[in-house]
Order: sequence, then C-alpha cells, then structure tokens
Amino acid sequence: MHLKSVCLLSAIFSLSSTAVASKSCSGKDTGSSRREINFLKGAVTQYQLTNPLNDGVACACYLLRKFDRYAVFREGEEEYLREANGYWSATVWTTPRCIFTPSGASDVAKGIAIMKECRALFAVKGGGHYPPPEMSTITDGVLVALTKLKTLELAEDKKSVLVGPGLRWGDVYRYLLPHNVFVVGGRITNVGVPGFLLGGGISYLGSRWGFGMDNVEEFEVVLADSSVVRANKRSHLDLFWALKGGSSNFGIVTSFRLTAHPITGKAWIGKFAYSTATDPDTGKRNHMETVLDKLQAFVDKNDDTSGVLPLFMYVPQHGGPIGDISVIKLDVEGKMEMGAGSIQGEYGPTPDMIHVPKLFKDMTEEIPPMMGAWNISHPYQLTLAMNPDAPDGFRQSFRVHAAKATRESLELITHIFYNRIPELLEKLPAEEILQTLGQTSVIIQPITKNMLKQGEKRGGNTFGINSSQSYYWYIITVTWFDPKYDEIMNEWSDLTSELTYEALGKKGLSHPFIYMNDAHGNQDAFAGYGQREMKRLKKIREQYDPKRLWKKGLVGGYKIPE
Ligand SMILES: Cc1cc2nc3c(=O)[nH]c(=O)nc-3n(C[C@H](O)[C@H](O)[C@H](O)COP(=O)(O)OP(=O)(O)OC[C@H]3O[C@@H](n4cnc5c(N)ncnc54)[C@H](O)[C@@H]3O)c2cc1C
Repeated sequence: MHLKSVCLLSAIFSLSSTAVASKSCSGKDTGSSRREINFLKGAVTQYQLTNPLNDGVACACYLLRKFDRYAVFREGEEEYLREANGYWSATVWTTPRCIFTPSGASDVAKGIAIMKECRALFAVKGGGHYPPPEMSTITDGVLVALTKLKTLELAEDKKSVLVGPGLRWGDVYRYLLPHNVFVVGGRITNVGVPGFLLGGGISYLGSRWGFGMDNVEEFEVVLADSSVVRANKRSHLDLFWALKGGSSNFGIVTSFRLTAHPITGKAWIGKFAYSTATDPDTGKRNHMETVLDKLQAFVDKNDDTSGVLPLFMYVPQHGGPIGDISVIKLDVEGKMEMGAGSIQGEYGPTPDMIHVPKLFKDMTEEIPPMMGAWNISHPYQLTLAMNPDAPDGFRQSFRVHAAKATRESLELITHIFYNRIPELLEKLPAEEILQTLGQTSVIIQPITKNMLKQGEKRGGNTFGINSSQSYYWYIITVTWFDPKYDEIMNEWSDLTSELTYEALGKKGLSHPFIYMNDAHGNQDAFAGYGQREMKRLKKIREQYDPKRLWKKGLVGGYKIPE
C-alpha cells in the first residue's frame, strides 16, 4: 500500500479509538484531510441522533474528550483550573463547560469541525492578556486554550523565527538571546504572542521596525472549513494582509513566522520615577512641564534607534502621583561598553551614567528623578524589568484613545487624568482606599511617523493610518482588588476616557483610531480603521468566512461589522 494511504488510515483508526492524530508521516503538522473531517462530522451526527437535547456545548465537550481525553478538561481537574484562571486580569476568570488544549494545527482543525458541527459556542485564548471579560474567555462554552502550541524555531540563516501561539514574549526573547537577533514583541515578557500580533503590537523599538504585525512573514491559520493554510506574500496574499490587525475574524492562527532583526545584543536601558505631586507654593505639578517638554522633543525627533514609554500614575500605596518613564536606545554600532548604575534622588546617578540617550541626559540633569536605574545590556532586560509593574491576578481595566502627538495633547491628557483622581477617591470609602485601589494611570504610547512608515515599507496593514503625523495612543488603566467596586471603576474610567477625548476633540487634537489591544469591551475597535481598509477586510471575510463562524460561533474578540 502507498505510504500516504497507510498514514491516513492509521490516523483515522487512532482517531476513532483514542487520540486525534496530529502529525503526518513526515512528522510535520499538515492539518487534517477531508476524510478525517468528514469522519468527525459523521460522529457528530451520530451523537445528535442519540442525544436529542440539542445541547451543542455538551456535544462538543463529549466528542472532543472522546477523541483525545488528554486534551480536554472539565471543572475539578487541575489543568482546567490552571487554564480557566490563567489570565492577567481577575475580571475575566470564568467557568467554561470544558477546555480543549490542542497540540497542533490538525488538532485545532478537528476541534473546529466538531464545535462547528455541534453548533457549540467557543472562545480562543492565547496568552490571556486581554483585560475585558468574555474576549478570550467564555462562561458556558468550550474554551480553546492554545497553551501547548509552543513551536520555537530560528531559521538556519537566522533571518526569521517560527513562533507558536502558546508562547509569551519572554519565552521568545529568552530563546533568541544567544543568537543576537531580536523580534518585535511586547514591552512586558508575560504578554501573549498571538493577541499582540493579531491586534497590532507595539514594542519599544517600533520606530525602527514598525508594529509586531508588520514583522509577520507568514501566518499558519486554521480556516472556518477546517483547512489549514499558510498566508504570506506569495500565497493567500489577501488573508496575509487581513490578519495584520484583523484579529480573530479569519481563523485560528497556529504559528507565526517573524522577521528576526540582527542586533549587537546591547542597548542603553533605563527606568526612572518622578514625583508628579502638586507643589503647594506654585500650584503646579512638580517636574511635569519639563518631563512633558522632553517627551515631546523625543517624539518630534522621530529617532529610529530609541523608544520610550511614559506612565503617569496615582498609586495610593506610594503616597500619590508618580511619573514612571522607561527608555531604550539600541547600540546600533556596537560601541557601547557595559555599565550599570542607579539614581537615588538628590544624590544623583551612581556611578556617572554613560552612553545616556539625550532625552534622559537632559531630563536627569534638569530634574533629578526620585529614583531610577539604568544599565547597558540586552533589550530583553527592559521587558523583564517591566514585569513587576503588571502582576497577574488583580482586577484590571484599559480604555484607549488616540491623539495627535503634540505638546498640547500631552498637557490635556495628563491634566485631565490627574484632575479626575479626587472624584475616584471620593467614591471609595476613605479608610479602604489602600486596600481597594492598586493604581490608576494614563499610559502614553508614542506612535511615531517612523513606526507607521515601517508598516508601509513592509507591505502595509489594516489600520489605514497616515504616516505624515505622529500620535499618542493613551490608555486609562485602573487596578483594583474587590469585585464590589467593578461598577465604580468602570464608570470612572469610561468618563475619564470620554472627557479626555472630548477635550482633545475641541482643540482638533483627537484621532478616531482605537487600538484594539488596549481597548475596553465597550469600545468599537474597528470604527477607527480606514474606510478603504474596512471595505477590503469585509470582502476578504466574505471569501474566507461566508457563514460567519468567527462572528457567530467564536465568542469574544472585536468583530468586523457587516
Ligand atoms: C500587562 C500588559 C502589557 C501589555 N503590553 C503591551 C505592549 O507592550 N504592546 C502592545 O501592543 N500591547 C500590549 N498589551 C496588550 C496586548 O497586546 C493584548 O492584551 C493582547 O491581546 C495580548 O495577547 P494574548 O495572546 O495574551 O491575548 P488573549 O487574551 O489570549 O487574546 C486576545 C484576543 O486574540 C484572540 N486570539 C488569541 N490567540 C489567537 C489565535 N491564535 N488566533 C486567532 N485569535 C486569537 C483571542 O480570542 C482574543 O480575542 C499589554 C497588555 C497587558 C495586560
């Protein structure tokens, strides 16, 4: 018998007894054959005939588990708990009826066939970092958790790396450490790979390489009909483009091939904290003017070797308002010597800082930070240093808007944010503030012209944003501990976000783009995409998902409107 048919028969045989086959004879995961999918459809029909209750989720959970009982978990099992609670924000913890953990593209394809045929609602989870509830979770359906898809393979020529959707950015950076190449990934190591890339992806070095999505060379994706395709510049070009910002509207991505950028392995990295409390004598916020001036100068410079992320926070446990600024400058020429040090308020830097980027030289000379630390090391270090700022397991919310990157925008955004803090504090019992409010902040993400141009240079993406202007995509965030304050926190965040956007609008400084990866569930992420891009996205969706599986069957994610 021909080898191929032996493989197919053995795959179907194993499928009908215990496990869903996931590899072809070559060892490569090539997806499922039509025969396998038809076999599964038959199994669903059989189930439905003997279980006329019409409970699609029960049907899917039963059959998924029947075909691979080591891949499907129910409440009470350890793996179930780990996956159901394995999200960044406690606001999204929930109880799926069962959790399906596929091991490869063909498992995903078979799972989709079963869930579709059973008419079960399902959700897809990558790294679980979306803070809004029911975006990568589901209360009474099947959760497809991609945790086991951990491919990590640097190409022999070191020009690209294959990355599975079950990974976090820290896994990828660590793997690449010895190879002196870097990828465009999250600014915090714990963020998941797939959601980040499918929604855009802002890294510290966006001005050099563009968004994460601009650096995907190929998506392997399971489509609504359970076929597995590779979308790249040569094949499925429309789908390739649509996945760059089109999120989960086209299929489940089972691997990403990312451009690997050569680096020297060194960068100047620093993290500094400034008090932004109001000076009782002047009535002005300490240091705010200078910090904002320098930030604006940095963004105007549009330097493609540096990146900055400013957070203006209110942290009750630290006694109030703080500006937290992290910065990176890549050692492009390989001339930086090693060095490290810290800054302790009035005592200044110890030892003297070397290779310090201009932004920080000016800033630290004019206004010494309360504290800070810098070193010259691998860019990965900065993403590690950011982790403690965003621990797992608290209640969190994000709301995002966009503004033109002007000094006046910075003024308005920070001013309105700090002016709204007393209203939030008034709503909370005074004696409980420390136990109630973790922090609230406005994070101002510079989206430079260079960053947008890099996207155009790499084939374009779905955002449709003009690169003749820089922007600030600012996020209002809140961290709290007790669900009884959910409503207060959400109302305050909604209003703060709206008031800021309105104020910017009145000055002609607002921009309609809503960055999906930082949006709240009640924000319409696709409303800010370019009109031409939306038209094209809809056309491509019609081609790849005419029956709208990803709109009607997949719960969560932002949906392309009709
Ligand atoms: C602490 C923190 C730091 C962050 N830092 C950054 C940052 O530096 N830059 C930035 O741009 N953003 C950042 N974000 C936002 C982040 O990019 C988004 O939350 C992103 O969705 C996270 O990806 P994930 O895989 O963890 O998400 P998940 O919550 O698992 O998924 C997000 C969405 O993608 C869908 N999805 C997941 N996997 C797949 C797949 N394989 N195929 C199809 N659909 C899929 C899910 O169904 C869901 O709708 C941060 C968020 C947090 C909470």
